[in-house]
Order: sequence, then C-alpha cells, then structure tokens
Amino acid sequence: MIKPLCDNTSAQIGIEDEPMPELPEVETIARGLAKRVTGDIIESVWLGKKKEPLKSPAPEIAATLENSRIVAVRRIGKHIVFDLDRVASSPANGRAGRRRSKRDYASQRASSNAEAGASSTQAAQWIVHLGMTGRVQVCEPQTEVEKHTHAILRLSSGRELRFVDPRRFGRLSVAPAADFEATGVEPLEIDLDPFVTLFWGRNTPIKSALLNQKLLRGVGNIYADESLFRAGIRPRRRAATISREQLAKLHASVRQVLKEAIALGGSSISDYVDANGDEGFFQLQHRVYGREGEPCLVCKTPIKRVVIAGRSSHYCPKCQK
Ligand SMILES: [Zn+2]
Repeated sequence: MIKPLCDNTSAQIGIEDEPMPELPEVETIARGLAKRVTGDIIESVWLGKKKEPLKSPAPEIAATLENSRIVAVRRIGKHIVFDLDRVASSPANGRAGRRRSKRDYASQRASSNAEAGASSTQAAQWIVHLGMTGRVQVCEPQTEVEKHTHAILRLSSGRELRFVDPRRFGRLSVAPAADFEATGVEPLEIDLDPFVTLFWGRNTPIKSALLNQKLLRGVGNIYADESLFRAGIRPRRRAATISREQLAKLHASVRQVLKEAIALGGSSISDYVDANGDEGFFQLQHRVYGREGEPCLVCKTPIKRVVIAGRSSHYCPKCQK
C-alpha cells in the first residue's frame, strides 16, 4: 500500500518534521527529468526576484545555463544534478519554439557527439536542491505559470523547465567547472565494511549518525526511522555500542528501504515532474514513522515517539533494542 506523503500529521509534530523529499523521491524525480529533457538545449533563462532560491548569483546561473545542452540528469545525495555541455553558439534549429521529434533529437545528439572531439564544449552543472516544497516541472509554454515560480528555462524543444517552490527552502546553483561534490557517501553504494567504520567510536545516537550528511548522504528522517525499525535498533542507541552484526542488519535495511521506495516512486514518475500531474510523493507505507501510539505491525506494542536532535523519532519499544 502506498500513502501520499503530503497527507501527513506534520501539523502535530512540528515544522522541522514536515515531510520533504528524501533520497528516493529525489532519485525518482531525477530519473523522470532525465527521461524528459536529456539532449535538450537550454536557450534562455528567466529568474525570479526572490533571492533565497538562488544559491549562485543570478547572472552566473543565467550565463552557465544559457546555450547549454543537458547531457544527463542524476541524483547526487539529495541534489538533482543536470550535467551540461556549453555549446559555443546557439543551435541553428529549434528557435522560436519549434517543436522537434525525438528522432530529431537523436540525430542532433549524434552529430554533436561527433563534433565533440573537434570543437570545444565545456562541461558545467546545474544543481537543484528541492528543500521542502520545491518542484521541477517540465511544461508546454502555454501552461499557466504557477505562483512561487522562481526559474523558467526555455528549451529548444519548445518546452520549459520550471522551478516552483512556495516555502523557498529549495536552492538553485551552478558549478561552471562541473565540480559539484556532495558530502558523505552514497548509502546505496557503500559496502558493509566502510559502512561499519562510519559509526566507529561515535557516541551520538545512531539516529543522529544516520542523519549526518557527512557520513551518509541523503538519508532523511523518515527512512532513518524505517531502517532502524527493520534492523531492530532503537534510535537512541549510541552508534559505537552497536555490534557489527547489528550494523550489518542496518546496512541491509537502509538499502532495502531506499530501494523499495525508489521502486514505488518509479511507477509514478509523471506525478513528480509533469506540471499537471498529481502532486505529492508516493512512498512506502510507514511501519513506524508518524505512527505514534498506533500498534506495531509486528507485535502490536504502541509505537513510541522521542525527539532526538530536534527531530521526531519513532520506534517500537519491543522490537527495537
Ligand atoms: Zn514491535
């Protein structure tokens, strides 16, 4: 069963616990965007007047994005990264919103790849962090521009990429030298041994360690709680006191929870990036997160909630030790 993330009890548990896109949602969004805009060229950029969403200066964002080809879209941590190739001059075709077929793109891409060896294209990156309420839309230009739209990228396909964010915790930046690096390691890529050593000698609660972006990147509050439940570890346990065997369970459960959520998201990609799609994230049914007082799905004991480092943590006092 899946449950929309927006339909949540955030009002009761405080603003810092409002649902926000975590690694699986960002992965899903990046995949959806990759399908839609890879190969397209950013012809012009409009940026709104609000300063908060712009982490790089507006002129630098515009200069980096304009006349750049989107060669890939991928997730790094909780960031959506657009890999760009700066093209020397404006494309000959595709002006004035002329729409082209996928075949046109393919041939255009093929020819540009062939040229790539000779002409000098310069790699750059556009980095989007969605914050709490940020969304990236792929729309037809006639689609009404929503309130709280902070950036519009006009594409050579005639479509537009728009960044919408009512709460303005999201951030747009560029790396003109394509050198963006997120801290921490990818939870889906780390092997057991390095995973275990992440927690060596750490006297912080395991929950805080899981949320520490310098250790693992992209694990947020919800999936940390769900992973700890599956591994049978209480969120307050000191990281250093957890046995290798238990950490092995945690290593497996973190990956399992994230992969299941990504698989679920994959079936509703259009919901995330199409302007007229149903908004909201679809994800795993939570076993503990947001279920304070409700019976544990395994042993019926009421789920407990504690606050660790200012964030709500949910656990079963019987199943988790
Ligand atoms: Zn239980």
